Amino acid sequence: MIALAKKDYYEILGIPKDASPDDVKKAYKELVKKWHPDLHPDDKSEAEQKFKEIHEAYEVLSDPQKRAQYDRFGYVGQQPYENVYGSQGQGENPFGQENPFGGFEDIFSVFFGQGRTAEEQRTRNIRGEDIYLTMQIDTKDVLYGTEKEVEYTRYETCQACHGTGAKDGTAFKTCPKCHGTGVINVQQRTFFGVISTQTTCDMCKGSGKIITEKCPVCGGRGRVTVRKKIKVNIPAGVEDAGRLRVPNGGHAGENGGPYGDLFIILRIKEIPGIKREGRDAYSEIAIDFAQATLGTDIEIDGLEGKEVLSIPPGTQPNSILRLRGHGFPSPNGGSRGDHVIKVNVSIPKRISKEQEELLRQYSSLTHTEVNEKKHRFFR
Ligand SMILES: [Zn+2]
Ligand SMILES: [Zn+2]
Repeated sequence: MIALAKKDYYEILGIPKDASPDDVKKAYKELVKKWHPDLHPDDKSEAEQKFKEIHEAYEVLSDPQKRAQYDRFGYVGQQPYENVYGSQGQGENPFGQENPFGGFEDIFSVFFGQGRTAEEQRTRNIRGEDIYLTMQIDTKDVLYGTEKEVEYTRYETCQACHGTGAKDGTAFKTCPKCHGTGVINVQQRTFFGVISTQTTCDMCKGSGKIITEKCPVCGGRGRVTVRKKIKVNIPAGVEDAGRLRVPNGGHAGENGGPYGDLFIILRIKEIPGIKREGRDAYSEIAIDFAQATLGTDIEIDGLEGKEVLSIPPGTQPNSILRLRGHGFPSPNGGSRGDHVIKVNVSIPKRISKEQEELLRQYSSLTHTEVNEKKHRFFR
């Protein structure tokens, strides 16, 4: 059984109650990077727990409607948390302990319901839970977009019983307590007299039916676990920690209820030394005094491998050079951003005898110039 302790989503993201949508997004991105389970091999389960909480908090606080509900009631949906493996009753975790999926991707389900309607509650055609995966992609994938295969495990509606949990989909009878309505009247004695309220029937849990023989395929759960392989399109220009939504890619609902969604959180493998800021890429290079003075062509690491950067003669330390159109594409289309390169000029610590000779010669020429100017000035 999962404890239904209320969590403070603002606290989890480390932001104030009046944080702007941008702040929410920023905090989420930072925390996702910090707590990615792969970065915490020593206490992976703690990191996974954190990771889940962060997603949960972001899911709510990034959605204006859910956030408003959370601010008002302290939780979203029918109850603060719902665990597909725990609080729903029949669930022991079908995948065993710890990280149940392992393998190709980390996978997490989130637990809050989608805000059930009375009708859904009555028929128990509850929408399935969403599933979250993370996927590593390369910078090259971001430049041109790509198609990737994703493999994960989810609940699907049991075909043998059409999600009813009853053998052949027919082995049930009308609930004797609610006579198939799924609801019962409860009388409550109050100061104002006896008040009758309607509540979900506890015998059939709102389905109106009692299973007389369980479906042998799903054991009466109405859902079976299925290993699923799908192809997803990753559009060009996606950002790190960006999410792709695959509608109906999540778990099947109970009693043949609709599927939840699959969310794929993209982690982009950085190229060492290159930072990304929106559409632009940033890096630094070091050249020496002679290269800066005379100008030169040098090879640098670009987003697509080695590229040639032209250093104009007379380049000053900390100059900014741009390779236009060599940055990242925008997810909304249009031209690529720039690769912005800061040029550091380094002074060599050791030089050869011959170099020293030439530099002395150079220096004497420069100083003569200065002395001449001074001479003219004082005359
Ligand atoms: Zn079944
Ligand atoms: Zn009933």
